[in-house]
Amino acid sequence: MNLNDLKDYDKKYIFLNEFKLEKEQRIELLLFLINFFKIPGKIEDYYLVLGGRGLISRHNFQNSDFFIQNARILLKTLNQKKVYLDELREYESSEYEKLYTRVGNKFIKVKNITEELAEREELYLKLLSLEIRYKLPKNEFAFQKGKRYGIIIDEKPIEIKLLDEIVPRKISKPRRKKRSRLKLSISDLIKEAQEIDETLSQEGNSYRKRVLENTTFKFVKQQSIQETKNIEINNITNKVGQVGSGKSTLSDAIVKKLAKENKKVVVIESSVPKVLKKAEELNRLGIDAIPVIGSSNWTDHINKVSDGKDFLSDFDSEILTSGCALGGLINEADLSIDYGKEPCTKIYKFYERGASRLNQLNINKTYQCPFYYSCPRTSIQTRIFDANVIVTTTAALATMKIGISGMTLFQYTLEYVDLVIVDEAESELQKADQIFAPYVSIDDYIRNNGSISGEFYRKSSDERTSSNLNLRNFISLHQQSNDIFMKINDLLKNDKHGFPRSRLERPFSGRNLIRECWERNLLPEDLCKELEQMSNLNRNRRYIGILRDFISITNKNQLFENFSAYGWGTTKDLTRAQVNRVIFICSVLYFEHLYRELSNLVEKGTELPNSTKEILSQRFEFHQRYIPVSPIGNIFGLQYKDKEKNGKSDLCIVKQFATGRAMYLRFPWLKVDTNGNPLGPHVLLLSGSSFVPGSLSNHIDEHVNYIIEAEPYKRKFIEKSHFEYLNTGVYVSGSGEKRNERLRELVSECKEVIIEKLESNDNILMIVNSYEDVTVVYTKLREILSDTPFKEKIAYIAPDDDNSNDPGKVKQSKVTDVVFKDAKILVSVAVLIERGHNIVDEKGNAYFDTLMFMTRPMPRPDDYRSHVSKVNGYIMAKYSNRNEPVNTETFKQMRSDAFYMYNLLGQSEDRLDDLDTQVQKDIVVTLFVMILQIFGRLCRIGNQEDMKSKAPDVYFADAAFKAKNQNGFDLLNSLVDYLEEIMSEKGIDGEIAKTLYDPFYQALRKGRKIYDKLSLVY
Ligand code: SF4
Repeated sequence: MNLNDLKDYDKKYIFLNEFKLEKEQRIELLLFLINFFKIPGKIEDYYLVLGGRGLISRHNFQNSDFFIQNARILLKTLNQKKVYLDELREYESSEYEKLYTRVGNKFIKVKNITEELAEREELYLKLLSLEIRYKLPKNEFAFQKGKRYGIIIDEKPIEIKLLDEIVPRKISKPRRKKRSRLKLSISDLIKEAQEIDETLSQEGNSYRKRVLENTTFKFVKQQSIQETKNIEINNITNKVGQVGSGKSTLSDAIVKKLAKENKKVVVIESSVPKVLKKAEELNRLGIDAIPVIGSSNWTDHINKVSDGKDFLSDFDSEILTSGCALGGLINEADLSIDYGKEPCTKIYKFYERGASRLNQLNINKTYQCPFYYSCPRTSIQTRIFDANVIVTTTAALATMKIGISGMTLFQYTLEYVDLVIVDEAESELQKADQIFAPYVSIDDYIRNNGSISGEFYRKSSDERTSSNLNLRNFISLHQQSNDIFMKINDLLKNDKHGFPRSRLERPFSGRNLIRECWERNLLPEDLCKELEQMSNLNRNRRYIGILRDFISITNKNQLFENFSAYGWGTTKDLTRAQVNRVIFICSVLYFEHLYRELSNLVEKGTELPNSTKEILSQRFEFHQRYIPVSPIGNIFGLQYKDKEKNGKSDLCIVKQFATGRAMYLRFPWLKVDTNGNPLGPHVLLLSGSSFVPGSLSNHIDEHVNYIIEAEPYKRKFIEKSHFEYLNTGVYVSGSGEKRNERLRELVSECKEVIIEKLESNDNILMIVNSYEDVTVVYTKLREILSDTPFKEKIAYIAPDDDNSNDPGKVKQSKVTDVVFKDAKILVSVAVLIERGHNIVDEKGNAYFDTLMFMTRPMPRPDDYRSHVSKVNGYIMAKYSNRNEPVNTETFKQMRSDAFYMYNLLGQSEDRLDDLDTQVQKDIVVTLFVMILQIFGRLCRIGNQEDMKSKAPDVYFADAAFKAKNQNGFDLLNSLVDYLEEIMSEKGIDGEIAKTLYDPFYQALRKGRKIYDKLSLVY
C-alpha cells in the first residue's frame, strides 16, 4: 500500500508493515507536519520533532501530538540528524515534483500548486489522521504433510517426525481496555488486605489488615495536604512513604481489588525469584497472575530459584521446567533440548532438491511449532493474554516478546494493560535507563564472542564446512571485528589517535569524528568529504574493501599507498597527527560496519550464545517509535576510559536507544488518541526515597499525589536510633592503591566496638563497596575474632555465580539465609543490600541491630550507565512540566543541557572538594539515598506487642565520611545540611520531606560526632 492508495481508502487505520512511502514523500511528510502546525525552528533541526522530546516536557497533549506520534512511527529513521540531512539533500536535488521549496531558513509551500500536488497534500493529512497498527507476522507451521522438517542442536540438523498432523491451537485476541481513572476506597483495600491475611498469614495474624488500618493516607493537592479515605490512580500517580509504611501491602491490596474488577495489571518486581514468588502468592489468592521472565538465561533462573532446595515448588516447576514435546521426538541418544532453548519458532525445512543438500536444513526460512499454546512449556503463553496480572521485571518488560507471533511485552502493556505498579520506583527507573543504554567493554566483547570461534575451530574441517553459512559468516566477521577493535585500543593506548584524549572519553563515532575534523579544519576538506562518503557504507559499498586494509595500516607510507591503490584520499600532504587521525577514523568506521553486520546476523536468528546475542542484538525497534530518544540523541559509539582516572584503561562500546525512565514516567502518553488523550496504561509509582531534590538519578520530579505515613510507633523507633562517627583516622575511600591495606587497618581499629556489640548480642551488618572489599573485610574479621566464640559466626554476600564452598558464603539472591545460619556479622556490598532485602526474624523484627559503614558507599564515578541515568534524570527534571508547545529550539537546548551534564559528570572525582557544586550535591544526596535504604533494613519491626526494644546503632567507620581539613568537603555535615534544607522548604515540599525523613534526620542530627562544622578534628 502506498500514498496514492489512500485516495479511496475508507478505513480508520493502516498497518505499518503494509504501507510504504517513497523516499521524497518521507521528507515531504515531515515538511508538511512542520508547516501544518507551524512548528518553529530552523530547517536543520526539523528532525528533532521526530525524537519524541515533546513527551518529556509536557503532560497535556492535543490533536497535533497524534499527528506527531504518527509521523514518528512512519519516519523513525529520520530522527537521526545525518539520515535527515542526507534525505533532505536528495529531496532538494531530485526531479520529483515538490510540494515545498526552501526560502531562507524555512520550507514553504510552492505557489500555484497543481491539482496533483494539492491532492498529495490532502493525502499527507489523511495519512497522519489514521491510526497506525501493527500486523503480527502470519504463522507458518512446521510438519506439513509430505515435507521433512528439523531443528538444530549444537550445529547439527536433527530431523523431527510427527506421527500425525497437528492442528495448531489458536487463541483469541486480548480484549482492548476501556481507559478510565481507577478509584479505590481505603476501606475496600483494608478488606482485601484482610482476605490476603486469611490466605497467606498464619492463623489469627492480621498483619496486613492492621498495617493498612493504622497507616495514615494523605492526599497531596497542589498547595495542601490532607488525610484521605480514597485513592485515585490517574496517568502517573506518585505515592511516597517511609520504610515500613505498608507500600507493598497497599500494592497487593490494589492488585487484588483490580483483579476482581477484571482490570489488567502489570506488577514490576526487582528480580526473577521475586517475580515467581509474587506470582505464586497471587495465584494462591485466587488471582489469575502469570510471571513473565526473560528466556535467555533460563538455566540461571532455575539455579537461582532451586538453590539449596531438593525440589522446586509446583508453581516454579510448572513455569521453569515444563518439557518441550519435540524433545521426546529426538532420535539421537546424546542430544536434548535445553531449558530456554526450545525451538518454538525455529524449525526448518530440509532442502527438497540437489542430492548434496537433501540432508541439510534450509535455515533461510523458519517455521513455527504446531504445539505452541498446547504443549506444557508454552501453554502458559495462552494465559498471558487472559491473565489479570502479569508479574515481571523492568528488564523483561523492555525486552521480552510474548506469544507465538512475538509481540513485545512493552507493546502489549501499552495497548492492553490498565495499570503498571512500580515499587521501589527510583531504582526501577534507573534500571530502565540502563537497559536502553547497553555497554560492553573490549575485554567482555572479545571474551564472550571468543568462545564461539574457539568451538568452531575445534571442529573437524568437514564439520566446519557443513556448519551453516550464517555461522561461518559470523566467525569471519567476528575475527575481523576483534582485530580492528584491538587495533583501536592500541591506537588509544599509544596515543596515536590524533584527537585530544579528553574528547575520546566521551562517546564517539566515526561520523562525529569526521564532522569535528570538518568543522575544526583538522583534515583537508577533500579528505573530509571522502571520509563522509565512506561513512555511508550502505550507499558506497566500494569503501568496505578499502577499510578492510586498515587492520594492517600503521604509517604514512602505507596510508598513501592505500590512497593511490584505490584512488581515494587527498592531494594534500598530511602531518603525523593527521595521518593518525585518518587511520583512527577509518578503523572506527570499519569496526562500526562489522558490528552492524554482526548484529544483522543475530537479528536473523543465527544460533549464537546468549552472551553474544545480548551484546549484539536488542535494537528496541518497536520501542524507539514511542519512547523519547536519549537527551543527546540516540548513540552507537565507542568510549575510552583513561587509566589515570580509572586505574585501568578500557575501550567500550556504548549504545543508547531511548530515555529509559520515560518508559515509566510517560507510559500513559506514549500512545495518544486523535485528541491527545492518553491511551497507555496508568502508572503507580511507590517508593520511600524518590523525593530527593538534588539527586540527578534518584529524584522523581513528578507531583507527589499521596503520602503514606507509617504507624507512630515505627516513627518513634527510628527516632531512637543512635548514629556515630567513629573517628578512626583511617581513610579507606579515596585511598587508591592502599585501599585494601587501609581496610584491614580499619577492621583492626574497630575491633573493640565489634566485640562489644557481639557480646551484647547484637547482630552486625557491615557495609563495603565491592566484592574485593568484602573479601578483605571477611578475612580480617576472621583473623581478629579468631580467639572468640564469634569466629564461625561471620557471613558475607557473594555473587550468585560464586560456587565456592566457603562456609561463610551467602548467595546474593539468598541473603535471608543469614538468619538460618545464625550469623552474627554479615559483610555486604552496599548496592546488594540497599533495598528489597527484608532480613527479619520470626516476629518480623529486623535481624540486624548494628550497622557499620566501613567505606563510603558510592557508585563507581566513571560508570557510563550511571552517567546515562543521571543525565536522563537531570533532563526529565529540568524539562518536565514546561507544557510549552512543540518547539525545536527547546529540543536543541535540551540536547545541549544533556551534553553539559555529561561533561560535568566526566570530571575527575579524585578530589571531591574540586567538583562542580551540582555534582557535589548529587553525591551527597545519592549517598543519603544509599544510607537510608541500607538503614531501612534495620528498621523493620513487627507488631507493636512483639517489636524489638533496641533501636538501631549506626557507625560511620571510614574516616572519609568527614572532611580532612577545615575547608574540605564534609559528607556527614553536608548530609545534615541537606536534610535541614529540604525539610525547611515552605509548602508541600517541606511537608513531604518531613513525613519521609524527619525520624531519620532527628536521629542523625543528634548523633555522636556527626555534625560539627567548626571542629573537624576530634
Ligand atoms: S511449542 Fe512446545 S513442543 Fe514446540 S518447540 Fe516449543 S516447547 Fe517444544
